[in-house]
Amino acid sequence: MSKFWSSMAKRAEPYVPGEQIEQADLVKLNTNENPYPPSPKVLKAIEEELAGSLHLYPSPTADKLRSTIGSYYNMTADEVFVGNGSDEVLAFSFMAFFEPGKVIRFPYVTYSFYPVYAKLFDIPYEEVNLEEDFSIQAEDYFDSEGGIIIPNPNAPTSLYVGLDHIEEIVKNNPNQVVIIDEAYVDFAEQSAASLIRKYDNLLVVQTTSKSRALAGLRVGFALGNASLIDALIRMKDSFNSYTVDRLALVGAQASFEDEAYFKEITARIVSTRETVSKKMKQLEFTVLPSKANFVFVSHPRVAAEVLYTELKKENIVVRFFDKEPINNFLRITIGTDTQMEELLLTLEKILAK
Ligand SMILES: *Cc1c(COP(=O)(O)O)cnc(C)c1O
Repeated sequence: MSKFWSSMAKRAEPYVPGEQIEQADLVKLNTNENPYPPSPKVLKAIEEELAGSLHLYPSPTADKLRSTIGSYYNMTADEVFVGNGSDEVLAFSFMAFFEPGKVIRFPYVTYSFYPVYAKLFDIPYEEVNLEEDFSIQAEDYFDSEGGIIIPNPNAPTSLYVGLDHIEEIVKNNPNQVVIIDEAYVDFAEQSAASLIRKYDNLLVVQTTSKSRALAGLRVGFALGNASLIDALIRMKDSFNSYTVDRLALVGAQASFEDEAYFKEITARIVSTRETVSKKMKQLEFTVLPSKANFVFVSHPRVAAEVLYTELKKENIVVRFFDKEPINNFLRITIGTDTQMEELLLTLEKILAK
């Protein structure tokens, strides 16, 4: 800290992402990336774009991508916002819809970027404890003062809340914006996007990072009533006109145009998740019923931190959170079948010691 820092720079408490270790033989199961490459059509679109147009600015309005994402959800381009990863879309959403002095509410535990944004933008927040079984109770989120943000499925617990409960939360905050962060919804059931035409206070945020295997491209988006989307556009245009670059625009576009590939890799991950959950239970793990591309697990005999350390020695990296009430759990990303077999064999070895 120095005397030159603004009060905003001083109060910032930056988010710490999972370790990004560059090591060839590493089994990387710690940041919920997709183990499969993106669609070949994405790579082709990016190569074509590379061939001629990088000297020109990208579209500041991203109309084509917005309309493509819109049609995927039976919506129009003016109900879609795109940004540089959903983290950026979430940051703009905090600025656009939450107010300093009005308390917003989100679960404890949840995605740890929310308190970071809240502190940065000076928005007071209340963290609502999860139930004993880590589930979310809809009534806990009724009648908020400043708004609501909830991931569905929740991270890192992997649990999904039914749309009926989400709808109750939206209905019971008619004068506040309710943000549903659906980073993992493609591995779960229904998106709350189907409720947007019914509720003008609902914003659904999604990303191409997980289910579309594009974490490195940085494209996230929001779906909502056109007037909410308008507010997000106002934030972006007061900050940076070109948040999504040319390669990202065409890459994300091609991904939405190749639905068959998207469905195939998503189904494969879900199928691996179910197999891994069953096999981990056979190793006595408690495995929460995951609807995401990761599992959240705990062992009755060996502490999560010990398992984390032992796995790392074997070049397998998973995520361990050193905080109550989840410090005896590991969050393990679903990789390929081969990677997961290696994980299971290694766990078996560690547990036998
Ligand atoms: C991964 C994740 C994000 C961020 O995704 P990006 O689009 O890569 O920025 C947002 N919310 C949750 C809950 C996530 O797990």
